[in-house]
Amino acid sequence: GFPVLSDLEIARAATLRPIDEIAASAGIPADALELYGRYKAKIDVGRLPAPGPLGQVVLVSAISPTPAGEGKSTLTVGLADSLARAGKRTMIALREPSLGPILGMKGGATGGGHSQVLPMEDINLHFTGDFHAITAANNALCALVDNHIFQGNALGIDPRRVAVRRVMDMNDRSLRDIVTGLGGPGQGVPRETGFDITVASEVMAVFCLASSVADLRERLGRITVGYTYARQPVTAADLGAAGVMAMLLKDAFKPNLVQTIAGTPALVHGGPFANIAHGCNSALATMTARRLADVVVTEAGFGADLGAEKFIDIKARYADVAPAAVVLVATVRALKMHGGVPKDQLTAPDTAAVERGFENLVRHVENVRKFGLEPVVALNRFGTDTAEELETVLRLSRSAGVRAAIADVWGRGGGSDGGDELAREVLAALESPGTCRPLYPLELGVEEKIATLVREVYRGAAVEYSEQARRTLAQIRENGWNGLPVCMAKTQYSFSDNPALLGAPEGFTVHVRELWPRTGAGFIVAVTGQIMTMPGLPKEPAAMRMDLDDQGRVTGLF
Ligand code: ADP
Repeated sequence: GFPVLSDLEIARAATLRPIDEIAASAGIPADALELYGRYKAKIDVGRLPAPGPLGQVVLVSAISPTPAGEGKSTLTVGLADSLARAGKRTMIALREPSLGPILGMKGGATGGGHSQVLPMEDINLHFTGDFHAITAANNALCALVDNHIFQGNALGIDPRRVAVRRVMDMNDRSLRDIVTGLGGPGQGVPRETGFDITVASEVMAVFCLASSVADLRERLGRITVGYTYARQPVTAADLGAAGVMAMLLKDAFKPNLVQTIAGTPALVHGGPFANIAHGCNSALATMTARRLADVVVTEAGFGADLGAEKFIDIKARYADVAPAAVVLVATVRALKMHGGVPKDQLTAPDTAAVERGFENLVRHVENVRKFGLEPVVALNRFGTDTAEELETVLRLSRSAGVRAAIADVWGRGGGSDGGDELAREVLAALESPGTCRPLYPLELGVEEKIATLVREVYRGAAVEYSEQARRTLAQIRENGWNGLPVCMAKTQYSFSDNPALLGAPEGFTVHVRELWPRTGAGFIVAVTGQIMTMPGLPKEPAAMRMDLDDQGRVTGLF
């Protein structure tokens, strides 16, 4: 065989164009561009030409994935390159990667193979500093809360019921549960708390749902920081903290422009967790891309039961980003896993398992149609797939009446013809765009919303609430939060809340352990299963392979 190049080697071999050229080709005037070196820039949205007709949004989602990831980011980049190749004015809107997981497990979030956004070393590391600014805004709020309690606590905040935690962009399990304020009366009021990773913060979710600076400031002010001794919610605005937080996000809030290997413009901006938040790039970046391009390709984290659902039921309610079409990324190996093949045998040919596992894809197709949209299946080709297995997926898709195409954009790049067929199918779908509609009306209570999701999207039989979740439900009603949309925190590997239940399970019960009101972001998180808001590092962290060579170049990053 031939040597397989690493993502970093492929990225380094690419020739980047100066970012002002990319901006000019995307119709971004020079005075709206704030350069961060030669290949990165921020966009001052206020200096863009007045909006004309808005581009169509293509949402890239997936079947229930395997732990390795099915290639949504890779396909997002590859599809956009292929659409550009077909002559469409195309722009990508993608999440910024979080540093913690990069140092933990192998794999970034900037695509892979010949379908990547560049410069990947920068994007995967500190990029333009947005996450550091979000960290600072969050921690400023926490410092103001503790200081308020220390300085006499005029608002009567119960130190045992503070709802915000400090964050950092690092996987560090030893900070999950800590006690602060130790050392005597001069050092603060001791209380139990802990750190989360930055991408799990509500500030990150707010940042990604705000459609303007004014909206950002409003939402920051609505964050519930804790409760008084009388159980009344206290907000960031009550503390007078919204202004300084918005100020600290001044530059971070401007979308970042970069390019793909093939030279397609990409806005990479914001990156909330896909479990306890909605898992897609900033609304501002998606809306900005719509102003600049005819087609915007964007991605939502996890499978379509979570990512696409939250995109439509949360993000598209708050911002003008409703998709015109949805791409469902599938792989032969994931279908085999849903067909019962163990994780360590996924490379052995098994057409029968592919057929059995197809039921998972079918259910996602049906679900996307419930949102009024017509999906396109993108079969992400791996080197180990056999022609028979690939053909089986296409045949089954045809008989299910859904558009499907094999995409070879990881191996050959979206600038080649590897994604032409997928681009053709997506353009055909865009010719008769669906009318995107949310699954439930906001007037339904939180409990009814969850019941609707479980019944319609997951196909479970029942929902069970813990004692604690029941109490929070009552509190949500009392505080007037029952009209907020729901953000399900559920395993991405199964339609159920049990990651081992693959395929298309039915008749199961979903267990809601906790409900977390996120009044700034504007949703109620329903926690099922064990959700980690501060990840740890594995036994052999990817960080151990990373280095800087004598020329100052990064090595060992993917
Ligand atoms: P997701 O966005 O769904 O998590 P990614 O696009 O980040 O998935 O891809 C996950 C990993 O799989 C990356 O390391 C990527 O390089 C790799 N990958 C994606 N597609 C292919 C493919 N067709 N062949 C081999 N590796 C691939």
